[in-house]
Amino acid sequence: LHTRSTPLRGVGETRLGTLIVFNDVTRMRRLENMRRDFAANASHEMRTPLTCIKGAVETILLEKEALLENHGRFYTIIEKNVDRMSQLIEDLLELSRIEQQQLGSLPLNPSSVDAVVESSLVLLAGNAASKEVAIDVSGDTGVQAFFDPMLLERAVVNLLDNAIKYSPAKSTVTVAVEKIAHRVEIRVSDQGCGISAEHIPRLFERFYRVDSARSRKLGGTGLGLAIVKHVMHLLQGDVLLESTPDKGSTFTLVLKG
Ligand code: ADP
Repeated sequence: LHTRSTPLRGVGETRLGTLIVFNDVTRMRRLENMRRDFAANASHEMRTPLTCIKGAVETILLEKEALLENHGRFYTIIEKNVDRMSQLIEDLLELSRIEQQQLGSLPLNPSSVDAVVESSLVLLAGNAASKEVAIDVSGDTGVQAFFDPMLLERAVVNLLDNAIKYSPAKSTVTVAVEKIAHRVEIRVSDQGCGISAEHIPRLFERFYRVDSARSRKLGGTGLGLAIVKHVMHLLQGDVLLESTPDKGSTFTLVLKG
């Protein structure tokens, strides 16, 4: 809180009292801290893959004379880290594109929820197959809700991608659609590691992860849920989470139906 006080004087310099101005700077300071944290986190996230790439290139240059096949694993390191950087930049751009959209500026027309679920499943079929994770679709069919299909697909894809990533091999991920009065819910459930209660309040923040090493190893940028949160805000809906450690999680997208 910033306070400023000025003496209040009447005619002939008689002192009438003191004017005190309280200025609540908590919100401004919080925004400033968030901006600073974001710049620091984003730089840190980019520095790590760059350091790996530089290390691999230096090794190749030092060992110029070595047989070409010895260089194979360094090229793999370079490729993996270039992919990681690209994904991070893609996600950062996506997040800033979504953030720049004004709330209410997006036309939210009645659209088919089934079509978005279908197209999201197509995009993740490969990931699911390589982990032998089955994806079950259940619930209401033929449901319409108010949303922008591209944006909703992004949210569903991010949730499905996480559900597959944080699940054990050969488990099942479920996508359930339900229309409840003027609301449509899309629930993505997994039988994975779950999330303990203390992490839940911060989980949708950019770069917040329960286990950073695990997330990075699985190819995560730490931005997926922040994107989901922003998308659902733009769609004038919401995202909810219920989770039990070691049992699994259910993320629910709520839309206007
Ligand atoms: P990431 O790219 O790290 O997956 P996200 O923003 O998508 O970033 O998710 C943030 C963190 O939330 C993840 O690092 C992970 O710890 C946790 N998380 C997200 N989805 C799940 C899930 N289905 N099961 C368990 N943990 C999850």
